[in-house]
Amino acid sequence: MKVASTRGGAPVALSDAIVQGLAPDGGLYMPAPLTAPTALTGESLVERAQALLAPYFAGDRLAPHLHAMLTEAFTFDAKTHWLTDDTALLELFHGPTAAFKDFGARFLAAAMRRLVDGNSTTTVLVATSGDTGAAVASAFHQLSRFRVVILYPNGRVSPRQAHQLGAFADNVTALRVDGTFDDCQRIVKSAFADATLTARHRLVSANSISLGRLLPQMAYYAHASLSCIASGRGIPSFVVPTGNLGNAFACLLAREAGVPIDRVVVASNANRSVVNLLATGHYEPTTTVATVANAMDVGAPSNVERLMNRFGDLRGVVEGDSVDDDAIRASIALTFAQTGVAICPHTACGVEVLRRIRACGDSHSAGAWIVAATAHPSKFETIVEPLIGEVVPPPPALAELLTRPSHSIAIAPTLAALADQLARDHRWPA
Ligand SMILES: *Cc1c(COP(=O)(O)O)cnc(C)c1O
Repeated sequence: MKVASTRGGAPVALSDAIVQGLAPDGGLYMPAPLTAPTALTGESLVERAQALLAPYFAGDRLAPHLHAMLTEAFTFDAKTHWLTDDTALLELFHGPTAAFKDFGARFLAAAMRRLVDGNSTTTVLVATSGDTGAAVASAFHQLSRFRVVILYPNGRVSPRQAHQLGAFADNVTALRVDGTFDDCQRIVKSAFADATLTARHRLVSANSISLGRLLPQMAYYAHASLSCIASGRGIPSFVVPTGNLGNAFACLLAREAGVPIDRVVVASNANRSVVNLLATGHYEPTTTVATVANAMDVGAPSNVERLMNRFGDLRGVVEGDSVDDDAIRASIALTFAQTGVAICPHTACGVEVLRRIRACGDSHSAGAWIVAATAHPSKFETIVEPLIGEVVPPPPALAELLTRPSHSIAIAPTLAALADQLARDHRWPA
């Protein structure tokens, strides 16, 4: 399939868009709407992903590799965990860095290593509000011909996230920026807009603007929907904790591709720009507010441009609500008291939004509700553990990473500071 920028311009092959990330005109690449709904076959996540993604890759040079890429990337499952008869968590945190971004980052790495040629090193440049950086670092770690440079906002990611980002070593460099996530994202964008810098370091993007991350995320919605229907619970509605809007957009694309999905509801933290857009039809980026659900601390979500390009007036397409820190904490405590399940602060936004929908008398959903559980609660243990009064042990892969030494470099929130670091070879331990 050819894909086109949200800002016009000639369409390019999907694999070219995956390598480029952002379109040259500054827009975001969009897949064309499918002409017919996809017939989903198979039982496993990989089989269903293959059926769902094949139309997008049709005619592309990656098409013959799609199955191998999915098998390489999806080495762990997306589990639907029923808390009650009509409410589930879609556990997306069984990958190596314990957050949903492992799905997209690992698929992107599988695509990239088949697409970049030559022997010179390609630099994967990524801004992270917490989990992207680790997922991308893990996906590209020790992959020959690649290095990863991560920018994260100093003091605004959880202590475990910070440790994780700096713990990979080898071909991964973590830069802690004196600023917010939006500063990190702005610097990365200006690096890509700088043709000299981009060419010199062979910069490629791994942010959620990349179709190489977005498309594979559709797969777990299909997997969960079919499992829900097979269990006799009807066509599910999804609540998606939202920051940069990548995960929610993937859910909407899955529905557009014919996956049986009823309502799609985004759950934001106190960063309300998306929720305001849905309420007023008017988009106004805001400055970022720091919250306990830090991976969603985004005031100017890049994927808004995609959403508006595809769906125009969003009312009737997607709903949303915002959850402040007090309500996040209350939701973590209440969920644990009612179900014995510990959830992370991002997932708690989703659970709280669902609670409010039901408190208003949920009369028009077709079937059960599924909340995307975007990260493992142990990544945010300083918030979660005091609320539930129990220790939340990290899953094995995360536990292993946390025992390694961690190293990051402080930089100012400027392109010049980033350019200076890109010129150095930080491979460590030496
Ligand atoms: C990245 C992230 C989100 C937000 O996802 P977007 O695709 O940016 O909307 C939510 N929760 C967790 C744990 C994340 O890491």
